[in-house]
Amino acid sequence: MLTIRLPDFTLTAGPTPASPRTLAALGQPLIFDYDPIFLERFRELERKAARLFGTSSDVVLLQGEAVAGLEAVARSLTRPGTRALNLVSGVYAKWFGEWLRAFGAEVTEIEVPYDQALDPAAVERALSSADRVDLVSMVHCETPAGILNPVGEIAPLARAAGALVMADMVSSLGGHPARPDEWGIDIAVAAPRKCLAGPPGMTMLTVSDAAWDAMRANPQAPRHSFLSLLDWKERWIDGGREHFPYTPSVCDVGGVLAACDEVLEEGIDAVIARHERAARATRAGVMGLGLSLWPSTESIAANCVTAVRLPSGIDGARLLALVRERYGVMLSAGYGELADKLVRLGHMGPNASAMHPVVAVAALGRGLADLGHPVSIGAGVEAALAVAGEAWDR
Ligand SMILES: *Cc1c(COP(=O)(O)O)cnc(C)c1O
Repeated sequence: MLTIRLPDFTLTAGPTPASPRTLAALGQPLIFDYDPIFLERFRELERKAARLFGTSSDVVLLQGEAVAGLEAVARSLTRPGTRALNLVSGVYAKWFGEWLRAFGAEVTEIEVPYDQALDPAAVERALSSADRVDLVSMVHCETPAGILNPVGEIAPLARAAGALVMADMVSSLGGHPARPDEWGIDIAVAAPRKCLAGPPGMTMLTVSDAAWDAMRANPQAPRHSFLSLLDWKERWIDGGREHFPYTPSVCDVGGVLAACDEVLEEGIDAVIARHERAARATRAGVMGLGLSLWPSTESIAANCVTAVRLPSGIDGARLLALVRERYGVMLSAGYGELADKLVRLGHMGPNASAMHPVVAVAALGRGLADLGHPVSIGAGVEAALAVAGEAWDR
């Protein structure tokens, strides 16, 4: 039997803690999916997700984690001979490229070191020297590296070159401006479990008409499959939103709807501003401790998580276990290739508040001190508090 206590603070890269209202919504009665109440709840969630994305394109709500949505997109848009330009600045973009290749695309990659952001000029050069690019794919916020890519600058270049544009906005929606229509993104993939503070287990996609056309023209696009976007288009959307192709997770839909309602009631801009301030407070605290940020410059640091370079000689797994056990604070390790290089302090959803960054900084500092690494805990806490106090203007 596990005797360890629940954490006092979950300050991770997601799933994030949910609000009491979202938790209560997850506990609503489990009703029939064709009950008129549920049908309307599902349609309402689609409309609200569209508002969060600021899109007039179709929204598809797929069950399964965000990775399911990303794989569905890769399958739906790829066939042998598809020419894809995959822009890689981290783990998730790399993974997407592997799918593109697996499903037959000819993939060109522009890759930058994972502590840097994508460069629009390099993308522009690649687009102008290629004779045809069908698909350009990128990740808006590379959560494993805590880095934001200038998707708003790159996407219009890709669209102007005649390519379909796909952006992974899983952790940016709610934390940064994320505007698929304005930027010329055909498919955006997001998820409730990052800055929106909903439960894991769903992915939300926007799909433009051009992207639907490309899928219909692709004999390899999944049909009669749980990963089929076209099944949702043809049976649910074009069928007048009366018939589901697959049974939605009734409880999750209620939870995600409550989370989206909270974001829309607070106002998407206010929610983004809250994430921006929490990120700034966390970065100030980390630097105050005497540590280095993982991103090569602060200007590319994301609002959803702060990645901190591990000091040499410090084992990240040991550090995080110690912080969790002694201080009841759950932080995130690095992910994929970055696993032993950094740790991450999450500030998404309810954690993007005044004091959570202070807790994260104090816990990280104390853990490092316990392992014998010299840090200025007081200076870190003061620096985080200074931003918290100034930023929230209370
Ligand atoms: C979290 C995340 C994913 C994957 O989300 P899952 O819920 O784990 O499937 C994909 N891309 C980005 C950028 C993410 O932050």
